[in-house]
Amino acid sequence: MRVLVVGGGGREHALAWKLAQSPVLETLFVAPGNPGMESLAKCVGIGAEEIDALVEFARAERIDLVVPGPEAPLALGLADRLAAAGIACFGPTEAAARLESSKRFTKEICDEAGIPTAGWASFTDAGAARAYLDEHPAPIVIKADGLAAGKGVVVAATDEEAREAVAAMLEGGLHGASGAEIVIEECLIGTEISLFAICDGEAAVFCGTASDHKRVGDGDTGPNTGGMGAIAPPPAASGAVIGAAMERIVRPALRTMARRGTPFRGFLFAGLMLTASGPRLIEFNVRFGDPECETLLPLLRTDLLPVLADAARGRLDPETRLDWRDGAAATVVMAAKGYPGAYERGHPIDLAGVAGLPETTVFQAGTARRDGALVSAGGRVLAVTATGDDLREAIDRAYVAVRRIGFPGGFCRRDIGAKAV
Ligand code: ATP
Repeated sequence: MRVLVVGGGGREHALAWKLAQSPVLETLFVAPGNPGMESLAKCVGIGAEEIDALVEFARAERIDLVVPGPEAPLALGLADRLAAAGIACFGPTEAAARLESSKRFTKEICDEAGIPTAGWASFTDAGAARAYLDEHPAPIVIKADGLAAGKGVVVAATDEEAREAVAAMLEGGLHGASGAEIVIEECLIGTEISLFAICDGEAAVFCGTASDHKRVGDGDTGPNTGGMGAIAPPPAASGAVIGAAMERIVRPALRTMARRGTPFRGFLFAGLMLTASGPRLIEFNVRFGDPECETLLPLLRTDLLPVLADAARGRLDPETRLDWRDGAAATVVMAAKGYPGAYERGHPIDLAGVAGLPETTVFQAGTARRDGALVSAGGRVLAVTATGDDLREAIDRAYVAVRRIGFPGGFCRRDIGAKAV
């Protein structure tokens, strides 16, 4: 099979690494890729959001399957354009990608499908929102409807904070058009985990659970980031939790999307709160998580390529069960000093010390080559992943690797997985 992975981060490196192991792969391309993928795939100089160029490349190269990593090309209609060109794509259409790009849309799907989620209401008028807050005291959650790079959610501990968030979004123009409509929702209490499913428009196959570390600092302090690390599986993700989430959340969402004429195909990422009354949905994303993808794929034994190819054609066998290594995995993200604020690029990276370490893989994210040498080129630079017979072993192995990596311009959290062990 001739396959094109779209994207250039750690998630796409992990996807390329996994797909490159498939016996049914003929040629692997990545657009634009990064230096970590050069030994696995042919990196082509097309950006992940250059939809015309991607479609043209896929047509010219007779690509059998396109696997988009990030959400941006999906929201720009990459899957629709590929479908029109007769090329299979494992990712949702623009209409189905609304499950990530509009929080109100997701809430409407939840209500229609009977999916357990936080009680909610949506507003464009600040006065009406304030009247709702009078009836619904803090703690309460205020969300910009559209995408806001992870900054559009305020979990308000006090009524004053809730009012400030409403004013900032609806009257102050914070988040621009994304915040012109807001969702106010009940504050859920519990343990948060992420669950992934491979979907073909009708059927869904469970594809692992993980828990990420969003804040930049140890002890979950400091600003939010794209993710500083993850573990899999989280101790709270029992078989009962997974079964309930698949039956009450993932499958009803797929049925409802299909009934509306916008079937969902691709990786479905369900952000869940495990409450006293069972798992409830916080959010859907329409792609694999980053770094959760880097954490989960090293645990996966099944050949992923035929599964994604079947799903992309709407022919996923609903009885498919993925086979996983027993034990656990941990990913520690090494970021450029200053991230998620301003940071420098071009700092040298030396990976020689990690060669031969057991069950350890360094996925590259923001890296580049300068005069043949590897240098940093982004905020999140490396996703250092290890597997082990238990979480403790996986975490220890990942930090052994971190200590052996030469990256003086970088930093990482020192407590990935600490709460779970
Ligand atoms: P953005 O759209 O800005 O990128 P996001 O998609 O990350 O944000 P959510 O996942 O909906 O937004 O919320 C971010 C975080 O806020 C969640 O991971 C969770 O910790 C917290 N949160 C969201 N909704 C609730 C809720 N109803 N109750 C408690 N916590 C919540």
